[in-house]
Amino acid sequence: MRSEIIVDLSKLDSNVEAIKRRLKPEIKIMAVIKDNAYGHGAVPIAKHLSTQVDWLCVATLPEAIELRENGIELPILVFEVPEKEDAEKYLEYSITATVSDISTFEILKEGTDYHLNFDTGMRRLGISLEDIESTLSLFKTYNTLNCTGIYTHFSSADEPENESVLKQLARFNSIIKQFPDHLIKHTANTGAIFYYQDLDIQFDAVRPGVCLYGYMAGESESSDLTPIIEWKSYVMQTRSVKKGDPVGYGETWKAPEDGIVGTIPIGYSDGIQRLLGGKFNVLINGEMIQQVGRISMDYFGVYSPHNSFKRGDMVYLFRGDELSPKKWAKVLQTIPYEVTTSLNNRISRRYLKEDRT
Ligand SMILES: *Cc1c(COP(=O)(O)O)cnc(C)c1O
Repeated sequence: MRSEIIVDLSKLDSNVEAIKRRLKPEIKIMAVIKDNAYGHGAVPIAKHLSTQVDWLCVATLPEAIELRENGIELPILVFEVPEKEDAEKYLEYSITATVSDISTFEILKEGTDYHLNFDTGMRRLGISLEDIESTLSLFKTYNTLNCTGIYTHFSSADEPENESVLKQLARFNSIIKQFPDHLIKHTANTGAIFYYQDLDIQFDAVRPGVCLYGYMAGESESSDLTPIIEWKSYVMQTRSVKKGDPVGYGETWKAPEDGIVGTIPIGYSDGIQRLLGGKFNVLINGEMIQQVGRISMDYFGVYSPHNSFKRGDMVYLFRGDELSPKKWAKVLQTIPYEVTTSLNNRISRRYLKEDRT
């Protein structure tokens, strides 16, 4: 096996606990496991969360169907705008659709559950504010559809004390007043849960995503979240190098001293962005070893001036806080979301249930 991702489900549990500590009692959790659970594997994550959360949320209908076909019975909300030819599937698989556009009312099949999504400022998906009245009347007309919830999404909750969160919240509050009170109301993503606890922002349910996997939204570090992922591989080949010997495509890196170079069978097609070339470390035999040269499609190089590794040795790319997608995200000027969702689905994933002892 070229490399393996190990997901520690007990750490997932502890992240769920960290979320629950911030929730008022009775608030439901709608776990966001879109995009293969941010790269961690949607079905195993969903199975494990089934006893701890109330809902699951995914981006697309096929993701929801995959969960149903694997025996997941929790309510599932799909964020995307339904397409006409898929309308039947929502009903068939008992999946909750999102109405983000008034044209959706007429394509959903009788008996389909749906949530209304209002655009309060993000301007991505959601019903525009000028359509509130027509939505109200369609909501009443289409009473063979089953509206169970109403939500919105924040553009800037990953930053504490951001004005636009307050504006969006005020707009949402004025919208929900016009709809029956029994609808499940929800707004909060990770940022809103962790940075805006003091506001009335949790409503009936929250939609945590990235925090489940151990990362804060935005810049701040939160001490009680733990990355749930480890990524390991091994040294496939080694060779001795002399001072000045180049390594990898383009000969962009040359050995500063005599030493040893190892080839690790992971590359940019696995999800190590080529831009990371020369900018991260791995752990081999308890020692931080520098990655050197360009990242190839299926390989990268590491170097040590000592003989600190040999062929077959285990190599950690992600492990704990020291080697984490957070670090890579900093180097790449992106967010952990992009790092973990880039992990190729061909990499095998293993799930640990208990503490490793
Ligand atoms: C992705 C997403 C979330 C979760 O966001 P995080 O920042 O990962 O917590 C919640 N709601 C919607 C509509 C989303 O698209």
